[in-house]
Amino acid sequence: MKDLKELKKIEQYADSCIKCGFCTFFCPVYQEDKIETNVARGKNFLIRQILKGEQKFTKEMQDILGRCLLCKRCWFICPPKTQIDRVVMAARAQKVNEKGMGFIKRLIFSKLMSHRKLFGLFAKIVQKFQWIMPRTEGNVRHVPDFVKVMGRRNFPEFAKKFMRDRVKPVYESADGKPAKIRVGFFMGCLIDFMYPDLGLKAIEFLTRHGVEVVVPKDQNCCGIPMSTNGDFKTARMLANKNIEAFEKLNVDYIVSICATCSSGLKDYQKYLPENEEQKKRYEAFEKKIKDINEFIFDNLKIKPEDLTLKKEFQGKTATWHDPCHLVRYQNIKDQPRAILKGLNGLKYAEMPNADLCCGMGGSFSVYHYDITKKIGAKKMNGVKATGADIVVTACPGCMMSLEDSAIQNNMPQKVYHILELVE
Ligand code: SF4
Ligand code: SF4
Repeated sequence: MKDLKELKKIEQYADSCIKCGFCTFFCPVYQEDKIETNVARGKNFLIRQILKGEQKFTKEMQDILGRCLLCKRCWFICPPKTQIDRVVMAARAQKVNEKGMGFIKRLIFSKLMSHRKLFGLFAKIVQKFQWIMPRTEGNVRHVPDFVKVMGRRNFPEFAKKFMRDRVKPVYESADGKPAKIRVGFFMGCLIDFMYPDLGLKAIEFLTRHGVEVVVPKDQNCCGIPMSTNGDFKTARMLANKNIEAFEKLNVDYIVSICATCSSGLKDYQKYLPENEEQKKRYEAFEKKIKDINEFIFDNLKIKPEDLTLKKEFQGKTATWHDPCHLVRYQNIKDQPRAILKGLNGLKYAEMPNADLCCGMGGSFSVYHYDITKKIGAKKMNGVKATGADIVVTACPGCMMSLEDSAIQNNMPQKVYHILELVE
């Protein structure tokens, strides 16, 4: 039998499934396509079969492993907490160990995205040619109709100038006094290439609240696209590069405004260590990571009523979408709601299924856009029920997906990052 190194690490979780089927009521994928292999129970069963040598990584098995958003909605209600994220990711990594990555994914992950400068160069070329994608509205474009494989999907434009080309290495506290906290700012790919104004706004917000911000140029992609696709080797390499980039700065915390990145940086210790020494290093790094929502509350101790709502949002009603990587991966649920409810001049309406995944799930939406669209439509029904004018969240990936769903469902609501609402 092959060396099942990655699967052995998660055997206990797959084994703990008691087949109760609670996950079937909460899994967004299963709810749209009721096949047993779409849900955690079916996946745990198959992975146990691989461990016993009764199942192989066939083409069909690879497809089954791909049909999971890693949203952890099933984990939340699972009595023995089978940790399906670890099970599925380990199985994908095991598959890569045995069969290798597909050519395109290998090219994108290990040759392009993991080399910061090259990736930036590539993004600039894409930016120059994005006129090929017809404009939907504002800075949103869509896949041309002749590219049938992805449907008429909408994306934000690549920015004219990326954050990496606009950012300074150090920003001192705005009041000129010695900073009370010194943080490293983690950009992440989407903030860098698509939402650089948001990244710069975050730095301005932090410095205005007495924080010194350092932005190392040698930081990289957080590694989530690689680890979720089973390329643990590249994800480990990126983890080590990011730790090196921030370690030498001697900062108190590392702040990210992308829920996926902050959760990815915190979880190096969970998915990637190959030995004790690596585990300790990743754990020490995890302690420094803060998502902006928790940082505002726990570290800056800012009261929401002391924040100023931007004029354009005065009198509007907002609803909140929980990014999976915030609510379940980091247990951050109350802080953003407290901000929205506390902002003077803003009304808040909780949407039904606020914690339902937006449907993106990284590369899931590339291969299963039909399911992504159905989940997105469900999400938009929740938004409609609130009568909200705007949808607020804290993950650029969710922003992209929700924006697409709003357009697909002819909804007038625009999607904002929570930081965009405040002065
Ligand atoms: S909820 Fe958990 S224990 Fe129950 S069937 Fe699903 S994965 Fe297994
Ligand atoms: S992580 Fe999400 S998509 Fe995957 S099995 Fe659980 S609920 Fe379904």
